Amino acid sequence: MTGLATPPARGGPLVVQPLRRRHCAECRGGPLPLLVVEGGAPRCLDCADLGHLVFLPRGDTALTRRSREESALSAVVVRFNRRKGRYERQGVLVEEEGLARAEERCLADAEARRRRRVRDARRRAVEDVRFAEAFAAEIRRLFPGCPDERARTIASHASVRGSGRVGRSAAGRALSEGAVVSAVVASVRHVDTPYDTLLMSGVARHEARRRISGRVEAVLRGWRDLGTVLREGAG
Ligand SMILES: [Zn+2]
Repeated sequence: MTGLATPPARGGPLVVQPLRRRHCAECRGGPLPLLVVEGGAPRCLDCADLGHLVFLPRGDTALTRRSREESALSAVVVRFNRRKGRYERQGVLVEEEGLARAEERCLADAEARRRRRVRDARRRAVEDVRFAEAFAAEIRRLFPGCPDERARTIASHASVRGSGRVGRSAAGRALSEGAVVSAVVASVRHVDTPYDTLLMSGVARHEARRRISGRVEAVLRGWRDLGTVLREGAG
């Protein structure tokens, strides 16, 4: 029985990869790599009028589906799994032109996906620039004494996509004052104080922060106060 029981048929002729050596009942050709069971007897693909089809192994679902759509005649190829006691799908036989058209459709899809990725990246880049500009403007509003270039550097650093930095957090996106101040404080810590040197020399983070907190406060006060001076001067 194994390998020659008539497998359940659906979706066109069913083609079997035989487990044992089989010969065609009609032309006596063989042993057959693939056969069709007709009336309990094996037939080669040529005798079964399937000789013009090409084998597409399973694995690429979209290509398989489209190859069958593009083929007037197609067949499912199965092999009996003795251990599991059932037929398992190995692939399909499809028309060569159908396979070619299906490959073109899949390539077109891949190209469309690639173009969409490029468009998305471009749109994100524009969003990033706008976000960084808004972030910099907010820094300048809160810290009028902060140099323009510095505000831009802090903002672009804080808004690097996917970095997980403060600017990309929900609060940063909303440009909350807390998020903007955090980004500025982080920058001052690293640029205007010996914070990094302290960390490198083995000072614990909390101790390093304690040692530089006065310096950080002084820089921030300076940047804020210039704003007060300017506002008073204008008023
Ligand atoms: Zn034959």
